[in-house]
Amino acid sequence: MNTKSFVQNLNQITAALISMTPAQREVVHQSIRESQVELPTNELFQPIFDTSSSCPHCTSTHLRKWGKSGETQRYRCNHCAKTFNIKTKTPLARLRKCHLWEEYARCMELKLTLRQAASICHINLKTAFLWRHRFLMANTAKTQDKLSGIIEVDEFFMAYSEKGSKKLTRGRKARKRGGDADKRTKDDQVAILLSIDRSKHIVNKVLAADTASEIEANFEPHILSNSVLCSDGAWPYVNIAEHKNCVHKRLINGKNRVIENIYHIQTVNGAITHFKSWVVGKMKGVATKYLPHYLTWFRESSAKYDFQQILLAAYR
Ligand SMILES: [Zn+2]
Repeated sequence: MNTKSFVQNLNQITAALISMTPAQREVVHQSIRESQVELPTNELFQPIFDTSSSCPHCTSTHLRKWGKSGETQRYRCNHCAKTFNIKTKTPLARLRKCHLWEEYARCMELKLTLRQAASICHINLKTAFLWRHRFLMANTAKTQDKLSGIIEVDEFFMAYSEKGSKKLTRGRKARKRGGDADKRTKDDQVAILLSIDRSKHIVNKVLAADTASEIEANFEPHILSNSVLCSDGAWPYVNIAEHKNCVHKRLINGKNRVIENIYHIQTVNGAITHFKSWVVGKMKGVATKYLPHYLTWFRESSAKYDFQQILLAAYR
């Protein structure tokens, strides 16, 4: 479902609720409340826990059931005697209102803003922010795709940002809305590598510096040998293509935009423009420390990532 039809559905439901009598509304309310036990997410995670159940504190597999907290099963470890539930020490630990996670993950699937997601789930902005980053934390740690076939790659820059921090460690004045970094000094910029193949697999990384060794270390492990690499004239890609035995099509500024009708870097440049306008425009700039999370979100949602996958990946 896209954002527009989702909002349309929501408006229709709201209109139907407004037209009801108080008694009818109470019936709806009652059935929603009954369905809001913690079962949905437990049902999602319990089978994963059951296949390799172990103590999150000491990894012992000698456990026994130890009562329930609400609908959530607790366990006690026979080895270290600590108690826990299936979410302890996962990125989802201690988050409340888990009956709303599925709805929240759907909002993420639609790339809604914090304010939109908070309003749909009836949670405050602080909770919406916490959930967003907990859900993305584990996803970011996942190994990224391998790229093959025709691979396009390019780097771009975003302004360094300490958005949301009370103290600015770099001693500069706060900048409005993250901003584009094109006209700033190198110290103010964060280099990001983005690569995409024609099957829409994406690899994206924040680079510690815009250097050949950083590009090689972050990009080379993700490309399969004997592919075709399309890049601009930057030298690091010449070495990478050689190491991986790839044909290299260099689109050098001002000369060729497309080689042999199929080799270009327009898809990757389109994805870069899309990412920048999403982060700078819709998200109104993001703190640099969270950039890997937003790159993950962008990468996964481009690959038809759905809400169940967001939750499942967050649990691991
Ligand atoms: Zn234990």
